[in-house]
Amino acid sequence: MDFDLIIVGAGPAGLCLARALRTSGLSICLLEQQALGALQNPAFDGREIALTQHSAALLRELGIWSLLAEPTIAPLKDALVLDGGAGAWQARMSISHALSPKPELGFLVANHHIRGAAFEAAMAEGPDQPVLRCAEQVNGIRSDAQGARLTLAGGATLSASLVVAADSRHSSTRRAMGISADMHDYGRTMLVCNMTHSQPHHETAWEWFDHGQTLALLPMNPCSQTGLPRSSVVLTLASQQLQPLMELPEAAFSEQITQRFAHRLGDMTLVSTRHAYPLVGVWARRLVAQRFAVVGDAAVGMHPVTAHGFNLGLRSIEVLSQALTRAKQLGHDLASPALLDRYQRTHQRASRGIYLATHALATLYTQEQAPARLLRQIMVRTGERFTPFKRAVAASLTGLH
Ligand SMILES: Cc1cc2nc3c(=O)[nH]c(=O)nc-3n(C[C@H](O)[C@H](O)[C@H](O)COP(=O)(O)OP(=O)(O)OC[C@H]3O[C@@H](n4cnc5c(N)ncnc54)[C@H](O)[C@@H]3O)c2cc1C
Repeated sequence: MDFDLIIVGAGPAGLCLARALRTSGLSICLLEQQALGALQNPAFDGREIALTQHSAALLRELGIWSLLAEPTIAPLKDALVLDGGAGAWQARMSISHALSPKPELGFLVANHHIRGAAFEAAMAEGPDQPVLRCAEQVNGIRSDAQGARLTLAGGATLSASLVVAADSRHSSTRRAMGISADMHDYGRTMLVCNMTHSQPHHETAWEWFDHGQTLALLPMNPCSQTGLPRSSVVLTLASQQLQPLMELPEAAFSEQITQRFAHRLGDMTLVSTRHAYPLVGVWARRLVAQRFAVVGDAAVGMHPVTAHGFNLGLRSIEVLSQALTRAKQLGHDLASPALLDRYQRTHQRASRGIYLATHALATLYTQEQAPARLLRQIMVRTGERFTPFKRAVAASLTGLH
């Protein structure tokens, strides 16, 4: 075998897995289709990732947190859920950090900063440094009792005891291994960008289920140039309504978003590029096959509304890396059916409930018929009065169960 383990995909999940296994004694190859420059200096992609306290603790353990410059980490103190138009009938539910044992519910860090820090930690020079093969695409995969073999686009082949795919929710290696997945196209697209605003955000995240649009606001640290409050703005619309907004001149776009937020944050100004993400949820029916496993979005591709995608991805890495490290210490087969089966059961059990609840929420909040609107109002108003429910939401946001 060329390696003990080949990881396909050097996104946040693949990089964190490589980092988590650095001291395991396993020989590891990390394969990525992007060029080295894009991994060393990842480009801004609009995504601000809300990290739970549990994920932050894991990133600290992996030595990734300390590589993030302080101004790139923003505290997420409280959360506010709004339902309906801006008038008197608007329902609201607030989730305070006081419902949790921590001074904040979680943290916000831009996806490209996580990628950059994870790459630095995973690839730091040393005897246990993984072999990195970038600008390489996997074209085919086969496995048998002896090992797994990958064919690369250039024709080369690589073998390993185990292949782990971290190649996105649309994982082609997962499909090549014959693993089916339930996919749900929500018919909506998310626009994400950074904006400054004249009113403070009080380190509070908003999820506003308005009629015909969903708005979210993720509080960031102040703008380094103007000192103004700054947030990541997330607007979800039917896909064909979003394209014109992507093309609107900057001033007109800022004006339009100010109006969509009903001037609640004062004047808002676009300070970044705009990025669009079509919303597709993916649930892989199985997470393992012979000498093969999936992690990150390739295992569970979440709708971003509950901000759990990468947090669940980190859980998958925690479970799998611990099992592989133990197998190596005991001299056991890394890809034994018992080990892989245990990983699948543990991660599916941890993610099934939140995947289904997120799907139900995303479906309910994209319906505009009167019964759906009424049900939403009832849910938000009841939730606001029912402290145990709010405590459960706070526990889900912090990841401290
Ligand atoms: C708008 C938005 C907001 C989000 N907000 C949050 C949030 O607040 N909190 C949260 O926890 N999560 C959030 N997420 C989810 C989070 O971004 C993802 O869960 C995370 O980025 C997935 O990482 P990954 O490494 O599994 O996959 P990816 O980031 O998709 O990386 C996959 C990698 O594999 C490579 N690759 C693909 N195919 C091949 C191949 N055949 N050969 C070689 N390489 C290949 C790709 O180039 C890429 O580098 C959000 C997502 C979106 C879209």
